Amino acid sequence: MERKRFYITTAIDYVNQKPHLGTAYEKIGADCMARYKRLSGFDVHFLMGNDEHSTNVEREARSRGLDPLEYCRTMSGEFQGAWKALDISYDDFIHTTEERHVLAVRTLFERIHTNGYIYKGKYEGLYCESCEEFIVEKDLADGLCPKHKLPPKQISEENYFFALSRFQQPLLEFFEKNPEFVRPQIRFNEVINVIKGGLEDVSISRFGKAWGIPLPIDETHVIYVWFDALTNYISALGFGGADAKRFDRWWPADVHVIGKDITRFHCIIWPAMLMAGGVAPPRSVFAHGFISLAGEKMSKTRGNIIDPLRMVEAFGSDALRYLLLREVPFDRDGDVTAEVFLNRYNADLANDIGNLFSRTVTMISKYLGGTVEPKPLGAGHELYAELVRSLEAYRGHMDRMEFSRALGAYWSVIQRANRFIEEKRPWDLAKDPAKRGELEEMFRELLAVLRASGVVLTPFMPRKMAEMLGPLGAEKLTMNDLPEKAAGASALAQPVPLFPRIKVDSADLLKG
Ligand SMILES: [Zn+2]
Repeated sequence: MERKRFYITTAIDYVNQKPHLGTAYEKIGADCMARYKRLSGFDVHFLMGNDEHSTNVEREARSRGLDPLEYCRTMSGEFQGAWKALDISYDDFIHTTEERHVLAVRTLFERIHTNGYIYKGKYEGLYCESCEEFIVEKDLADGLCPKHKLPPKQISEENYFFALSRFQQPLLEFFEKNPEFVRPQIRFNEVINVIKGGLEDVSISRFGKAWGIPLPIDETHVIYVWFDALTNYISALGFGGADAKRFDRWWPADVHVIGKDITRFHCIIWPAMLMAGGVAPPRSVFAHGFISLAGEKMSKTRGNIIDPLRMVEAFGSDALRYLLLREVPFDRDGDVTAEVFLNRYNADLANDIGNLFSRTVTMISKYLGGTVEPKPLGAGHELYAELVRSLEAYRGHMDRMEFSRALGAYWSVIQRANRFIEEKRPWDLAKDPAKRGELEEMFRELLAVLRASGVVLTPFMPRKMAEMLGPLGAEKLTMNDLPEKAAGASALAQPVPLFPRIKVDSADLLKG
């Protein structure tokens, strides 16, 4: 039987600025989900990429005296270098200047056109060049784009339009049939209210631009950057190309992971585009929240854009991944401070899990010669019973991409395990040969928790958990083996220190 498949994507990034902590947060969350699904036996395809056909990208390239394509290649190196440093395990990375993408965009456009949903009309209105979006009067703040604080341009030009208004009813029906299409619920409600409020046709071309994909039906226009960008989710699968099997294998996507500021494009325009082209819409969209730093929004003007690589230097990539996903719930906004990060690092990683690992393995070596014979554990074993409960809660949250809650729920068994050692006092049990059975039993339970924890935390901390699972003889354990196969192990190796104390001045962390 073919394994269950899971196709997950992130937003593709504009390359006119380097990746920052906010961008990294999205990729880390998506990566955590991709790894969780792989460990749960799914065949996973994880797509990321760069959005290169943007006027801002072209402008940035020209200002550096570079050809846009050359500039995009350099930036692709920057982005992929950062993602490698954070252990982001994407299977494919798409650039919107690639041949396969251009082909797919033109194919989708042609299909929508053939089906009668594209027409030529006159666009008159306002346009924010930084957003690369048309903007209406009522959305302006004191006459300026609320996002960029810049005056929009008055534009009047012949454009091609996509008949979005004709998809109001089909979208409402689709949303009704798919109550989990947009998560979290608050975003679902926002989007459905926008649809109910009425949809207007959208301009999908720009006249007289060189940097972009020419319309198949009129080469004097290029395809509007949003129409172009959204198509990456199918172009990477070879849509419109020779290998239809690959596309059929992975589409529709199980989840598009995006920031909450671009839900209108992903939850309204994108499914409508696909419906218009006779392609199935994605299964779901997850809109994550934003990170603020010590109460301040990250922004270029505030000068507090954090380079994730600086934080990798301070904490290591694993700890950074853990801290971000633990401190900022994926479905809402969250604030990060250096103190909170340091405290969390010391409490959860150095103390709770790091300590549990090193002292358990050391004691098994000292008291039991490094081996605990595998034997089934059950409801009568209190620590193991707690593990069963924690695992169930963890899985429920992970399936919903509630990473912070998954960690919070699971942590109760790690803390319980540390108290268990204090209560059982193995150093006393070890003095009495008659208590040998009890001693073995307690370490069997502790090992089960440790080995299970290594698997459970791998999506968050892939490197460190590999370092932990190795000495525990559990490298091959998967999510589906838990908890039964976590009990017992032979010939444990010496532990390595997993999370050394951080010796860094908190004032130096999180600086722009
Ligand atoms: Zn703007």
